[in-house]
Amino acid sequence: MSRVAVVGAGLMGSEIALMAALAGHHVTLVDIDEGALTRGLGHARAAGERMVRRGRLAQEDLDAAVARVSTATDVTAVAACDPVIEAVPERMDLKRQVLARIAAAVPPATVVASNTSGLSITELGAAAAPAGRVVGLHFFNPPSVMRLVEVIRGADTAEDVARRAAEFAAGLGKTPVAVRECPGFVVNRVLLRAMVAGFVATGEGDPAQADAAVVAAGPSPMGPHALADLVGLDTYEHIRGDLQAAYGDRFDDRGVGARMVAAGRLGRKNGGGFFDGPVPPTEAPQDLARSVGGVYYEAARDEAERLAAEGIASREDIDTAVRLGAGWEAGPLGSAG
Ligand code: NAD
Repeated sequence: MSRVAVVGAGLMGSEIALMAALAGHHVTLVDIDEGALTRGLGHARAAGERMVRRGRLAQEDLDAAVARVSTATDVTAVAACDPVIEAVPERMDLKRQVLARIAAAVPPATVVASNTSGLSITELGAAAAPAGRVVGLHFFNPPSVMRLVEVIRGADTAEDVARRAAEFAAGLGKTPVAVRECPGFVVNRVLLRAMVAGFVATGEGDPAQADAAVVAAGPSPMGPHALADLVGLDTYEHIRGDLQAAYGDRFDDRGVGARMVAAGRLGRKNGGGFFDGPVPPTEAPQDLARSVGGVYYEAARDEAERLAAEGIASREDIDTAVRLGAGWEAGPLGSAG
């Protein structure tokens, strides 16, 4: 097995490092902050312990994997690693700076991946010449549970680099889907579009009933309000704003997200969003199931059709991405994906 590196030992990076170590790789985990490395290793071990409790992993395999992770505060420690995965905070300037440092430390043939949730791979790649070696590897949270990895090709990403990145993700037991760069990639674009449509259709109506209508009408395990509470209203609103800037008013939620953020109702992370706690079981009235439920899936299907028409991903990969990234029982395009 090869030696791989993860730069940024936060929520995502530490668990991606664990997944790589469990697959047998030696892992160098890098962070500028010594304390973050300690917390990151603790977070990774806790994720591993949950896998052990669920019978998905033997304790001795976890111990052996953790022993394969070494830490460093200097990015030059990634020199002999391939791939190197960047997982520092979602800021273009910071990521470009870190990618430039990684690029200077590794040979030109090394795969340099970014775990960005939405920044342009082309712009990131330009900071790490040769840009052909830069690719997006978008793991979903939490990486120890979520099987999906979007493999994002920027304008300059070499085909061979995207293939090696996908092979690496598959080796971690993940399901890679091939995505051509666009704002929101696949999962966020489809889900946010559906959520926006769901919020607009709900209007002043009851969020619990609207969510029940969505669950009753199709393959999603939860409705838009519960989902927004889960991902955080601030995160939702940030991504939604970017998507509206990129694609226009089909991502306009009539101020629903902004009002929640202004009211400090960020979701489960701060004690309450649309709901104060777990969503109460509710029956959806027939008319709501048709209106909100119908609108939700129609919006998702329309966005998925656009993705396919734009050549962002294959119909099968779009369906796979939504199934594994959002837990839908079937994808919005109804392919075998
Ligand atoms: P985080 O804040 O938990 O962790 C980021 C880590 O990077 C911190 O430990 C920080 O000390 C470190 N860091 C900052 N500057 C650094 C530098 N110059 N060199 C090395 N390390 C540095 O962030 P996160 O939630 O793990 O997110 C990381 C990336 O993953 C972001 O791009 C985010 O958009 C993406 N992502 C996050 C989620 C999620 O749900 N949190 C899901 C998918 C993708």
